Amino acid sequence: MSDIAITEPYSSASTDAVAPVACWVRVALDIPILDVFDYRCVQAVPIGTRVIVPFGPRKLVGIVVATPEHPAIDPKLVKDVDQVLDDTPPLSADWLRMAAFAAQYYQRPIGEVILPALPSALRKVAAYQGKRSAGGPVKRLDRRTKKVASNAIQADQAPLLNPEQLIAADAIAALQDHKTILLHGVTGSGKTEVYLHAAKAALARGRQVLFLVPEINLTPQLEQSLRTRLAGIAEPDTLAVMHSGLADGERLLAWLNVQRGKARILLGTRLAIFAPLPDLGLIIVDEEHDTSYKQQDGLRYSARDLAVWRGRDRNVPVVLGSATPSLESWNHAERGHYQRFTLARRAREVELPEIRLVDTRRLTMQEGFSPHLVKALGERLERGEQSLIFLNRRGYAPVLNCASCGWVSNCPRCTAYTVLHRAGARRNHLQCHHCGYQARVPRACPDCGDQDLKPMGRGTQRVEEHLAELFPGARIARIDADSTRLKGSAAALFAKVHAGEVDLLVGTQMVAKGHDFANLGLVGVLNADAMLFAQDFRAPERLFAQLMQVAGRAGRHVRGGEVIIQTDYPEQAVYQALLKHDYLGFAEYGLSERKVVGLPPYAYQALLTAEARELATAVDFLTQARAWPAEYPDLFPTATAITLYDPVPLRVVRVANIERAQLLVESASRPALQAFLTAWSYALGDLARQFRVRHNLEVDPLEI
Ligand code: ADP
Ligand code: ZN
Ligand code: ZN
Repeated sequence: MSDIAITEPYSSASTDAVAPVACWVRVALDIPILDVFDYRCVQAVPIGTRVIVPFGPRKLVGIVVATPEHPAIDPKLVKDVDQVLDDTPPLSADWLRMAAFAAQYYQRPIGEVILPALPSALRKVAAYQGKRSAGGPVKRLDRRTKKVASNAIQADQAPLLNPEQLIAADAIAALQDHKTILLHGVTGSGKTEVYLHAAKAALARGRQVLFLVPEINLTPQLEQSLRTRLAGIAEPDTLAVMHSGLADGERLLAWLNVQRGKARILLGTRLAIFAPLPDLGLIIVDEEHDTSYKQQDGLRYSARDLAVWRGRDRNVPVVLGSATPSLESWNHAERGHYQRFTLARRAREVELPEIRLVDTRRLTMQEGFSPHLVKALGERLERGEQSLIFLNRRGYAPVLNCASCGWVSNCPRCTAYTVLHRAGARRNHLQCHHCGYQARVPRACPDCGDQDLKPMGRGTQRVEEHLAELFPGARIARIDADSTRLKGSAAALFAKVHAGEVDLLVGTQMVAKGHDFANLGLVGVLNADAMLFAQDFRAPERLFAQLMQVAGRAGRHVRGGEVIIQTDYPEQAVYQALLKHDYLGFAEYGLSERKVVGLPPYAYQALLTAEARELATAVDFLTQARAWPAEYPDLFPTATAITLYDPVPLRVVRVANIERAQLLVESASRPALQAFLTAWSYALGDLARQFRVRHNLEVDPLEI
């Protein structure tokens, strides 16, 4: 048995209940397709126990998901469990239920769901059978977190809730059973205070709180509030944090702390939905509309949707909060499935910012700036207020172009341009944002030799450069994926903004989310139209949410907040709704449009994507997959309720020399779609091998 106890050895089940006879265990392993295998074990072990088992020439960590009376194959062929891991409690029944649900709903093998959900130290054989133990890091970490937490924290004050906040907070705090609450609060309306109030009540009842946020590194304020107001300064372990940026040991420590109930609050990004929470009493999903809740590879789950499922399964309340709820959630509220609370006013004595549309069609623009925006920026600078320029495109310019022959900088491996970068460690280079390919900027045009190569369009770096020319004395900072690549650099940049050391901030959607900038008066939006005509039917919804979100950064504490949106299409419904801060009107219009054409939430979708060396292969595979149900009607009893669209190439067809196509599956009935997908996905594996394509099936895709 394991000799590297991470905590006290968990022994109640494995020693007290030891049966003298061998038993059979069904073990889930992280391998595709056939992912459960039977083994013989010399002792009885509870379901949820981690074990090391031989698999071919290898050894793997697996999880016992069943203890069958008889093995599924000839007992003589069944191998023995190598080692029973008792250093953590077995995974609980409810945790396994959620994993099983996710596997079934998202059409993945159970082993591919449960093992990747564990911290890597708990699923690596080497940690148990090699020289290094998983226990040593943890103890050191334990000590380190204690030290850090106790000195860096200063308490913040809880404000008195206003009537709107109070109604929502009290109602949520009083809930004992499951209910899904949609908290619709305009930006700055104080949703956080409502969450804190509800969380406090759950903690007081001795329960754990799961608090999900889209992006954790960007919300240090929230962590601070949770620590000082709820978790308690004295005992740092009562708050655990989980996100993908953690080191293995940190993730393990957080996992163990919540599993053994030491941590009472878990703050995390989407992956935290898979944390074991024995005393779960409340789930909060902040910015529920945010697309980062959807995992984009492997198990393509929606943490928001799983949160609602888990809340129902555990009979605990779930709070979904947003200024711009997803139309799916809004529709649930409209139909009475969710209970809705509205915070219509800002919590502080400030009004929502005034939104202005600048019609750029007849204006002479300078480097993408209208005279109106330049003037407004100057005025804010004079008043000592900060301004934010929002542009959702990083780099210097999206493409380099030869004026004489029309050559453009294409990526050799993708059907995409390479982006010109001028800032950062590698000054002046071309970079593909799809595959990472990098190249030097050519001195002359590779086709005609002309030396007049021009950057076309603009990204954040170019805007930053131009702002420095316009306002020579101003202190400018740029926040995007490039300027925040190093660990801690995002936090450092945001700290500078908060400390008032920045006058002009340029940023991508990284700056749009959640921040409470005290001295920010003006937000200018460049190039919003780029998102307006995207093919995806959710593009207007996303644009509306994003602009509301970024507009919400203006005038949170200072009076006279203002947002200037530059557009060629001011008459568009999205912009007109924004002018009036009219989410309700936008949602009503958006839902009615979707209803007419039968799109989600009035239909359910899945997307089958195929990747191959050549597009034709991918399309052939999809064509065959599409024909299959008609050829085998017995296997697909719900096929008549399903629409299978024609296979189409992806917008960016080739990425890193792989060509991609997709096929949309749709149904007005979720159960019919589920039944169809289960039968279909079973067949797709064989078909994909035959065609030599990589395929993946995504349920409830957000981008089509
Ligand atoms: P939201 O998440 O809804 O955009 P926040 O929770 O960030 O809004 O709150 C916006 C600001 O209002 C914060 O500075 C917060 O401290 C403050 N605030 C919240 N509730 C109150 C209140 N009842 N009275 C005074 N200020 C409040
Ligand atoms: Zn040329
Ligand atoms: Zn590329």
